Amino acid sequence: MSITADCHLHTSFSGDSQAPMEDMISRGMELGLTEMTFTEHMDFDYIPLPGEAPDYFEVDTDGYHKKFLEMKERFEGKIKLNFGIELGMQTHVNERNTEYSKSFPFDFIIASSHLCRRLDPYNADFWEGRLEKDGWHDYFSYIYEIITAYDDFDIYGHLDYVLRYGPTKNTDFVFDEFRDDIDKILKALISMGKGIEANTSGYRYGMGGPHPCKEILSRYRELGGEILTVGSDAHKPEHIAQHFEDAAALLKDCGFEYYCVFHERKPEFMKI
Ligand SMILES: [Zn+2]
Ligand SMILES: [Zn+2]
Repeated sequence: MSITADCHLHTSFSGDSQAPMEDMISRGMELGLTEMTFTEHMDFDYIPLPGEAPDYFEVDTDGYHKKFLEMKERFEGKIKLNFGIELGMQTHVNERNTEYSKSFPFDFIIASSHLCRRLDPYNADFWEGRLEKDGWHDYFSYIYEIITAYDDFDIYGHLDYVLRYGPTKNTDFVFDEFRDDIDKILKALISMGKGIEANTSGYRYGMGGPHPCKEILSRYRELGGEILTVGSDAHKPEHIAQHFEDAAALLKDCGFEYYCVFHERKPEFMKI
């Protein structure tokens, strides 16, 4: 494997995962990973789906940190473990996110948009009454609004997540029609010294590639973007490092020679 660090992983500390941290680590070691970064969900003011509690995506961070430290000690010298978080972005929780991100010694913070203007692209109401492409525009412009007002993060997660849940998924997505939206985001991230990720769950969700898609990754590189992490977004052991070989080939094709791993919020560059 040319990419040996999985930087987007969930365990049973996330509402949507049942996987014990030990099981995730064992699988990562079996696969020959050199590093794993856990990124449990913290989505303040998330809108729960039926059957989910309001705090479904709010990790018990004290419990998570304690467990992480135990695991770090237990696996010392065998695999490097990093303490991260996937922080749900919404403009009205910027202050809470700022306060939270300073309250724990995170190695890595992924900013993610799972919601857009109090609507969830996973639900039909996000798409109702408008063209699918207007939903996409809205999602991208919302990310831009967030990053112009919030900067305590390291990379922006699954940048085209919205394409996963629309009526036609990504089949009608034409990058050129969204170039302005995407360029604004990528240029802002680069000037802020932030990065993006290649999230290989896109393959798992039938997108035919990572989140974001190849055109966006390629454009990021073209604009001078260098900070890039790779993560499987695994919620169970069998998804760890999935499609990393595909991602490595695709990233090289986009012009990347390095990917990053974050320690104490600083990127370390590793050869692909
Ligand atoms: Zn996510
Ligand atoms: Zn995730």
